[in-house]
Amino acid sequence: MTKKETYIWGAGHFGVLTALDLEQKGIQIKGFIDKNASKIKTRLGLPVLTFEQVPKNETKIIIAVQNKCAIREITQILSLAGLNQDKDFEISTLIAMPKEPFEFYRLKMFEPPMIKHLSVGLAEHCNLNCAYCDHYCPVAEHEFPSTKQFDLDFAVLSKLTNGTIGRINLVGGEPLLNPDITDIMQIVRKNIPNSEITITTNGILLAKMAEDFWNACKNNNISIVISQYPIKLDTNKICQTAIKYEVNVFWGILVGGNLFRMQKYNVNGTQDIYKSYKNCGTKGCTFLKNGKIYLCPQISCSKNLEKAFNVNFSVSSNDFLVLDNINSVQDILDFISKPSPFCRYCSTEDKCFVQWKVSERKREEWIL
Ligand code: SF4
Ligand code: SF4
Repeated sequence: MTKKETYIWGAGHFGVLTALDLEQKGIQIKGFIDKNASKIKTRLGLPVLTFEQVPKNETKIIIAVQNKCAIREITQILSLAGLNQDKDFEISTLIAMPKEPFEFYRLKMFEPPMIKHLSVGLAEHCNLNCAYCDHYCPVAEHEFPSTKQFDLDFAVLSKLTNGTIGRINLVGGEPLLNPDITDIMQIVRKNIPNSEITITTNGILLAKMAEDFWNACKNNNISIVISQYPIKLDTNKICQTAIKYEVNVFWGILVGGNLFRMQKYNVNGTQDIYKSYKNCGTKGCTFLKNGKIYLCPQISCSKNLEKAFNVNFSVSSNDFLVLDNINSVQDILDFISKPSPFCRYCSTEDKCFVQWKVSERKREEWIL
């Protein structure tokens, strides 16, 4: 019997996820079918064809689009071409995947679409050197996005969101290292006037921050969250300054003393995407850096591991949205309500808490 050649109908984000899922199950994909084949041309190194270009004999087609009307339309086209459901074509089983609880919640409450949480990267590196850091700062180069980039990104976000995002968290690496942090705080508040804004810091620089910084926190209603690590901070000075400038400072909660979350990465990308995503504690931590929206910071920061240890995570255009190409908040919510192809690298089922320690910048701290 001739072996059937498998094509995925749908070369978008969902088609790519389906292809990666099938490949992990040992099913080889011959190519994609998409009405925009002339524009897209290739996905995952495979050809994107129109339906007319695909041989109809000994072919199995997996429909991987999310719009129910489109599924119905494609099913009709395939049936009219003499193909039988189940035998010659089927609908991707991933379509049954439930959306994130937040999405259900939002629909239930009939609220307008809103991004619940957005982390924004202000620095690639950090002034603390934690083993297992999940932004890989100990091996990161010193790098800050430009203030101009924040201007551009937040102007777009302002239009898209009408100035409302649940919470914006300015993070790093260590965000206080960014010499333009005061300007950035103003840019964020000017464009997103209706949201809670926080800065999450390890606190090392806090007692030394200039008056401008504290005034910017006060005037822009920005709170500070200090992640607690087993390091000495001048807590008296921090508290006194916060009281003086009327700035809220929250202390992060220690997990059982000095425990720290460790998650490793499988550079072969053979983890089950959906299991990784299901077990992941980071999803919901939507991340913005340099004009791109990611499902989580790890995807953007993975370049630090790539450079330091000469590995390749193949982050592709399916792993992020380019802000300039987004038409509505719903585009972002749809994107973050499902796994990213990058989840195939995350060994989330092995994640555990370990004693905090200083990084030795060794590959085995992050890579399986
Ligand atoms: S303080 Fe946070 S960002 Fe800095 S190295 Fe430690 S875990 Fe990473
Ligand atoms: S890529 Fe997916 S599994 Fe990995 S940390 Fe991000 S959300 Fe979690």
